[in-house]
Amino acid sequence: MNFRKKLALLFAVLITDAFLGYGLSVMLRADGTARERHTGTAVSAKARIRSGGVLALTFDDGPNAAYTEPLLDGLRERGVRASFFLLGDCIRGNEAIVKRMCDEGHLIGVHGMSHTDLTRESTEEALEQIAETRAMIEAITGKTPEYVRPPYGNWNEELNEATDMTPVFWSVDSLDWKLRDTWQIVRSVEKDAENGAVILMHDEFDTSVEAALQLVDNLTASGYTFVTVDELTVD
Ligand SMILES: [Zn+2]
Repeated sequence: MNFRKKLALLFAVLITDAFLGYGLSVMLRADGTARERHTGTAVSAKARIRSGGVLALTFDDGPNAAYTEPLLDGLRERGVRASFFLLGDCIRGNEAIVKRMCDEGHLIGVHGMSHTDLTRESTEEALEQIAETRAMIEAITGKTPEYVRPPYGNWNEELNEATDMTPVFWSVDSLDWKLRDTWQIVRSVEKDAENGAVILMHDEFDTSVEAALQLVDNLTASGYTFVTVDELTVD
């Protein structure tokens, strides 16, 4: 079943329940617990309960010639800025997309040159990868990236000491690369969404783009504000 059909089905269920009179009693419950139990698969329920706060959407492994621009279009329509951690190998040929990310206020960070585990290389090689990708981004945007997301989240003390970049990890893994289903991705993120969450996604699948924009709509309606990772306050 595709996403639109699922959404239509959800609305049909909600409307049917409203006709049965149950919806009204659920809506009258202020604490939201009834709504959560009632809707079951209505993925916004938990997010509504824990409404408010800030979230950072982050996208790794791009830019992607097919999917990054539709994502940028959707984010622009919604006035939302995200954080992109780029691969040097993917920047080549997609420079205009990188420039657009910067022009539209998104944060651009380094993911690496070719998605290798930086902790499995010599520190010199790892630093070279980071520096090379950083220089590519700087040449396009005129800004020096300050944040790095190491592939697989693998980082170590040596790298930390040797670079002035700030590593950025994540608190919510959307598993978008594995699920490849818009509805499931939305549900997996919404169940863990909370104030200060850093959401990991990949702008290389149509389902990821659809899910990201759906998440922006749902979670904004739940009272969340989307920020770039540099805007998240660290306790
Ligand atoms: Zn990656």
